[in-house]
Amino acid sequence: MLTRSQVKSFISRYPDFRDEVLSIHYAPRMPKAMVKETQKIVALARKFNDEIARPLFLELDRKTHENPEFLPWDLVKKANEWGFYTMWMPKVFGGKGYNMPSIAYFSEEIGSVCLGIANVIGVHYLGVAGLMMAGNTRVIKKVMNDVVQGEKTGDPCLIALAITEPMAGTDVEEIELEDRGKITCHVRKVKGGYIVNGTKIFISMGRLSKWTVLYGYTNLKKSSENTVVMMVKQGMKGFTYGTHENKMGQRICTADVLNFEDCFVPDELVILDPERAKGFTKQKSRDVKMRHLDYVLSLSRPVVGSFGTSAARGAFEAALRFANEAEIDGKPMISYEWVQCRLAEMYSNVRLGRLAYAEANLANQHRGVYNILQMKPIYYYLKYLPLAFFNNVLSPLLTNRSIGTWLMSKWYLDGQKPEDQHLCTGLGSLAKFNGTDIGVKNCQIALELMGQTGMRHENGMEKILRDAKLLQIYEGTNQLNRINVFKSLIAPACPKAKIFEE
Ligand SMILES: Cc1cc2nc3c(=O)[nH]c(=O)nc-3n(C[C@H](O)[C@H](O)[C@H](O)COP(=O)(O)OP(=O)(O)OC[C@H]3O[C@@H](n4cnc5c(N)ncnc54)[C@H](O)[C@@H]3O)c2cc1C
Repeated sequence: MLTRSQVKSFISRYPDFRDEVLSIHYAPRMPKAMVKETQKIVALARKFNDEIARPLFLELDRKTHENPEFLPWDLVKKANEWGFYTMWMPKVFGGKGYNMPSIAYFSEEIGSVCLGIANVIGVHYLGVAGLMMAGNTRVIKKVMNDVVQGEKTGDPCLIALAITEPMAGTDVEEIELEDRGKITCHVRKVKGGYIVNGTKIFISMGRLSKWTVLYGYTNLKKSSENTVVMMVKQGMKGFTYGTHENKMGQRICTADVLNFEDCFVPDELVILDPERAKGFTKQKSRDVKMRHLDYVLSLSRPVVGSFGTSAARGAFEAALRFANEAEIDGKPMISYEWVQCRLAEMYSNVRLGRLAYAEANLANQHRGVYNILQMKPIYYYLKYLPLAFFNNVLSPLLTNRSIGTWLMSKWYLDGQKPEDQHLCTGLGSLAKFNGTDIGVKNCQIALELMGQTGMRHENGMEKILRDAKLLQIYEGTNQLNRINVFKSLIAPACPKAKIFEE
C-alpha cells in the first residue's frame, strides 16, 4: 500500500484531486441548519413564483414591447415587500444574513419562470458584492441602512453596479486587457473628493437603484493601477440617466445609461482607491484591483450560472409539458423514444449546470471570500445570536471605528492564498459559461420539439430563448470566461502558454 506521503504526492499532482472534487471534501463540513435554511429559501421562491411571477411574467414582457420605457416599479415593490433585497445582506449591517450559496438556488427557481424577474432581484446583490468587497464598513453600513429602511417604509432602495462603458466591456472585467481598452470614465482628485466625467452603459436596474457602485479611473491610460471605486446616489448633481437599452430579452430588468458630468463625489463615499489600499496591504494597486474584481465576479458568476441553468430548466419544463400533451399519429408524443432521449438530454443539462454552480459555491464557501462564515461554530453563532447583539455590539464595533474597515480590508486583500483565488475565479467562470451555454442549448432543443407552438408568445418559450441569449454576454462574454478558466485552472499545467497575446 501507499505511505501517507505517497498519497499526498499522488493526489496533489495536476489535476490536484482536492481542487477537482470539492463536493466530497466539503459537503461533510456543511452545517445542517444551512441545508434547512436553503430549503426554506427555495420554498419561498416557489411561493413567489406561484403568487407573483407566473401570473405576471408574460404580461410584463408584453408591456415592455408596447412601451420600451416601461419601468417595473410595482414588481420591485413586491420583491421589497417579500424581503428579497435584504435577504443576503449580513446581519451585522441590518440584513437577514441568509447563507450566500442559497441565492443561486433561489435564482434558479425564480429564473425557471422568468429570467427578467430573477435579475430584477438578483442584480441588486451584484451591487451588494461590489460594495462589500471594498471593505469600507462605514459606507457599507450607511448604504445598507438605506436598503433596510427602504424595506421598512415600502420605498425600495436597490444598489446597482456600473463598470461597463461604451467602448469597454470585456476589457474592464479582466486586468490583463484593461490597459489596452478604450476607457473613458475619468475621475479627478479635488479637495474633499473626486470629480467624475464619463458614461456607463448596460447598467442593470441602474435607473431604479438609489445607490450605484461606480468604477472610475484617475489615469485612463493605466486604469488598472488607478481605479477609484465610489458610491454615487440618485439625484447627485451632474449624475443623469440616458435612454435605456431596447434589449432582446430580460426586458423587464432595465439596462440603463448613466451619465456623469462634473459630478462631485465626496471622499466619504469613496470605498476603494490606490492610496487608501496602501494603508491595508503591501500589494501593488493593480493586484488590489484584480483581487477586488475577482472577489466580486467569483461571487456573482456562479449566480449567473444558476440563471443559465434556470433557462435550461424553463425550456425543459416547457418541452415536457408539450410532449405530455401533444400527439403524433394518434400516439402520445411522450411515448416516442426519440422524444424521451431529447428530454433526457435536456434534463441532464439542467443537472450539469447545477453541479457546476454548486462546485463554484463550495469553492467560495471553503476557499473563498466568505469561508469564515461557513465554519460550523461561526455559522451557528451568527445564526442564533440575538439581533440586539448585532445591533448594539458588533455593528458599532465594525462601523464606528476605523478598526472595522481595517480588519475587513485586511481580510479581503491579504486573507486569500493566490491558488485559492484562482480556484474560486476559475470555477465561477466555468459555472457561468457552462450554465449559460446549456441554457441556450436547451431552448434550441425545446423549440425543435415544439415547432411553431414554441414560437407563440403565450407559451413563453421564445421569451426564454431571448432571455437566455443575453446571459452569454452578461458578466463578461463566454469567450472571456473560457479564457479565465484556462488562465486559472489549466495554465498551471502549461508553462509555455501565453494568455491574452493573440
Ligand atoms: C443582461 C445584461 C446585463 C448587464 N448588466 C450589467 C451591469 O449591471 N453592470 C455593468 O457594468 N455591466 C452590465 N452588463 C454589461 C456586460 O458586463 C458586458 O456586456 C460584457 O462585459 C461584455 O462586454 P461588451 O458587451 O462590451 O462586449 P465586448 O467586450 O465588446 O465583446 C464583443 C466581442 O469581442 C470579444 N472580445 C472583446 N475583447 C476581446 C479581447 N481583448 N480578446 C478577444 N476577444 C475579445 C468578446 O469575447 C465578444 O465576443 C450587462 C450585460 C447584459 C447583457
